[in-house]
Amino acid sequence: MRPYRLRSGSRAVAAVLLAVSSAACGSGAETGSDGSGGPGAGDPYFPQSGNGGYDVLHYALGLSYDPRAHRLSGTATITARATGDLTAFNLDLRGLDVEAVTVGGVRARWSRDGQELTVRPRERLDREGRFRVVVRYSGAPETVTDPDGSEEGWLRTADGALALGQPVGSMAWFPGNHHPSDKATYSIAVTVPKGLRAVSNGEPDGEETKGGRTTYRWRVGEPMASYLATVAVGRYETGRTKTPGGTAVYTAVDPEQAAASRAVLARIPEVVAWAERTFGPYPFSSTGAIVDRPEDVGYALETQNRPVFPGAPDIGLLVHEIAHQWYGNSVTPRTWRDMWLNEGFATYAQWLWQEDHGGGSAQQTFDALYAGGYFPDAESNEALWAFPPADPPDAARISATPVYWRGAMVLHKVRQTVGDDAFAALLRGWAQEHRHGNADTGEFTAYVEESAPDKDFGGIWEEWLYGEGRPARP
Ligand SMILES: [Zn+2]
Repeated sequence: MRPYRLRSGSRAVAAVLLAVSSAACGSGAETGSDGSGGPGAGDPYFPQSGNGGYDVLHYALGLSYDPRAHRLSGTATITARATGDLTAFNLDLRGLDVEAVTVGGVRARWSRDGQELTVRPRERLDREGRFRVVVRYSGAPETVTDPDGSEEGWLRTADGALALGQPVGSMAWFPGNHHPSDKATYSIAVTVPKGLRAVSNGEPDGEETKGGRTTYRWRVGEPMASYLATVAVGRYETGRTKTPGGTAVYTAVDPEQAAASRAVLARIPEVVAWAERTFGPYPFSSTGAIVDRPEDVGYALETQNRPVFPGAPDIGLLVHEIAHQWYGNSVTPRTWRDMWLNEGFATYAQWLWQEDHGGGSAQQTFDALYAGGYFPDAESNEALWAFPPADPPDAARISATPVYWRGAMVLHKVRQTVGDDAFAALLRGWAQEHRHGNADTGEFTAYVEESAPDKDFGGIWEEWLYGEGRPARP
């Protein structure tokens, strides 16, 4: 996401900082002894997110939304594998009314406590067995305010809605195992009043209109973390093309933003081709973008296949969100502590793009950050040193400045140590090693060390990745 997160909420400040950022650069839970899966996946910042005892393989979501009534009704068919013998398991669901739950086609008992929906199947689920749970639900989906004050979940827009889920908003529109450690494939069908369109992740899989309503189907064939799922409902101008490598590009743009977006979105094939040369093969079957109005959403997010933008992005922001398809979406953090593996890489991608396209070098960007002259105000320059990128102090700061820019500085220190060629190989190798999987900071440092056994990275990890304050030397 979110090349710069703002706690002030001031749109004017937001515009300035977004401009700066783009110019410069933007389950392991155990099964309980009582046979229940447990209410969390063990995340250090969001302990209730995700659940223990099972691994989701596929979500089939059938949704219907009427923006005027602001009413969502849905059927979630979840195919999962039990990782222990289960007499009960939890799903995460926020708000909405549950109407019925079945497991294996048989009605199941269920109860709710906050975001935890506990399901008790009629018969015990055996370890390693596959099972299918179907949840029917409806209601007014909620907008979620995060610990840092930003809004996600189900956002109402001028002409419809936009669903965003980093870090915990997806549970506001479908029940699931809402933690990045459990990735799955998806099919998403959304029915909206005729005249509106519903855009989601993956590739279009047909549409049909009957009785004054249109159903749009989307299919996501590669694993996706639930925080990267999106649905955009509204009036959109759509486009399709291909990248030079043959990847399909689908775009959906709010008509008000169409003219301003045209030139930059036309560069998606060029950006993906550059990113493939830099990071390796594109990890998904399609790419693209969704552009809504700036007043609809306060930030950009790297939703899988097609990132969401608050108005026409500039090239730096486009590069950032496309780079996330490798770093974040394909190689996904194991917990929210590992956010710098998303944002440090996506920020560094912007530095590399700039370097390759006649702008300043990554070294110059690094030097300006270290010298405290990068951001237009002293407060932001100082904020860079507020905490170590691999260890945000709390949930409100998983998307704060050090995670982005100091994270990118860590990568630059690695590059200085191994040299340009080995660093280029390392960027590609890391993306390949964990393609469509999860990874954490310890795996990253081990990977770097194994890739250059004759180099010493101890000082970089100690001072730049885990150390408090500004390192004594650049
Ligand atoms: Zn980002």
